[in-house]
Amino acid sequence: MKIANGTVVELDYSLHLGDGKIVDQSEGEPLSYIHGEGHIVPGLEQALGGLEVGAKKQVVVAPADGYGEHDAAGVQEVAREAFPADFQPQEGMQLVAESPDGQPVQFVVKQVGLQTVTVDFNHPLAGKTLHFDVTVRGVRQATDEEKEHGHVHGPGGHDHG
Ligand code: ZN
Repeated sequence: MKIANGTVVELDYSLHLGDGKIVDQSEGEPLSYIHGEGHIVPGLEQALGGLEVGAKKQVVVAPADGYGEHDAAGVQEVAREAFPADFQPQEGMQLVAESPDGQPVQFVVKQVGLQTVTVDFNHPLAGKTLHFDVTVRGVRQATDEEKEHGHVHGPGGHDHG
């Protein structure tokens, strides 16, 4: 069976940003997702269409088809007091704040000054060219229930217990 919209794909992958240093990879068990639902970055999803079990592929994804271009407006200076008094922000930390409407917002600490902290609300991989090495471990038709729920059931997927 070939990977197409509505198939459940099991994927082993590793990701580097051009220098060969792995920044993310499937660990222990493959990633599983429903193809065509936008669960993985568009450039990778597109490149996987038509592959079969056992296929190995190197996929290079431009920022626009990955986590988006880096938006300068996402880099902001916030007052040091915006952080808890007993917390010492450090360059490179990935933190989560709460937006005014209660949604979690991830950001990265770029620079820590005496009065202000420069933070970046862009995705940590925004503006990066993504280099994936993938191996297709499984392809099967998604069940009606999985399509309805929009996620994979069973090993590596959602467990409703
Ligand atoms: Zn479900």
